[in-house]
Amino acid sequence: MEFKKILVAGSGVLGSQIAFQTAFSGYEVHVYDINDDAIASAQQRMESLSNTYGEYFNDTARAAKALTSFSFYTDLAQAVSDVDLVIEAVPERIEIKQSFYTQLAKVAPAKTVFASNSSTLLPSQFAQFTGRPEKFLALHFANTIWKNNTAEIMGHAGTDPQYTEQVVEFARTIGMIPFHLKKEQPGYILNTLSVPFLSAGMGLWANDIADPHTIDKNWMISTGSPLGPFGFLDIVGMETPYNLNMMKAEIDPMAKIIAEKIKAEYIDLGKMGASSGEGFYKYPNPAYLDKDFLKQN
Ligand code: NAD
Repeated sequence: MEFKKILVAGSGVLGSQIAFQTAFSGYEVHVYDINDDAIASAQQRMESLSNTYGEYFNDTARAAKALTSFSFYTDLAQAVSDVDLVIEAVPERIEIKQSFYTQLAKVAPAKTVFASNSSTLLPSQFAQFTGRPEKFLALHFANTIWKNNTAEIMGHAGTDPQYTEQVVEFARTIGMIPFHLKKEQPGYILNTLSVPFLSAGMGLWANDIADPHTIDKNWMISTGSPLGPFGFLDIVGMETPYNLNMMKAEIDPMAKIIAEKIKAEYIDLGKMGASSGEGFYKYPNPAYLDKDFLKQN
């Protein structure tokens, strides 16, 4: 069976990108979020993504058409009715995701496959709440999905391989390069590499060894990389590193310091990263793109 109707649940940074990419690829897309304010923010994000896609793919007509092909919902039962695939992009908090799958299991049609975009959690942590463990797996996208077009597909031990294969094919149809992991791995390939890297950067900052721009500059000059950990964090947005560090805060004092610093110096001031116009850098022209940024320290 081919997927036709897709529901993206959670329309924040990643959910809105996944929804737009899927609509841009010709699918009918439902978007679900918790309340009208969240939906209004999603609609604003979609408009901005429409401009981004129009420019990036040099096809404003296709981007404008995608913008008109969403249906927005705050009622989960309506949102999921007759949907073939749900892509879940709700906050990276175990209790929120568990409660979301428990509610979804009650109202989704039996045919519907569920895929989680979680960055660090495992499908086996949620399979029992889905009411269909064999039709549940992870489908993980990278931020700025239209150009960083990886899709990591990872089942748990009970996922039926036919659905994994179907999701791999779906990922191809929306322009992704699929990476099917052979077994469960927290953080997949991308975040197994990037989370320790970003944590090390934040540790240097929280420990007052050096400031964010200096840390980035060192990494960029030394390795030839186009951006450092803090440029990367701005693209991710502050919410995810904050949540990840809060989860570790009880057992890791440095994670607590990092989470508090992100909250006090960024989140509380509305500096949520590139999407809000300011994070560790100011946008749309962050200093690390300046031709002189790497010339001196
Ligand atoms: P976000 O905070 O930007 O968006 C989360 C959205 O979920 C918000 O719109 C919020 O209103 C909504 N929400 C909250 N509770 C909900 C509920 N019970 N049901 C439905 N929606 C609910 O977060 P994000 O950065 O888009 O992350 C979402 C997921 O995507 C996380 O699992 C994260 O690990 C993953 N992810 C994030 C990135 C990234 O770079 N930000 C990259 C890959 C994967």
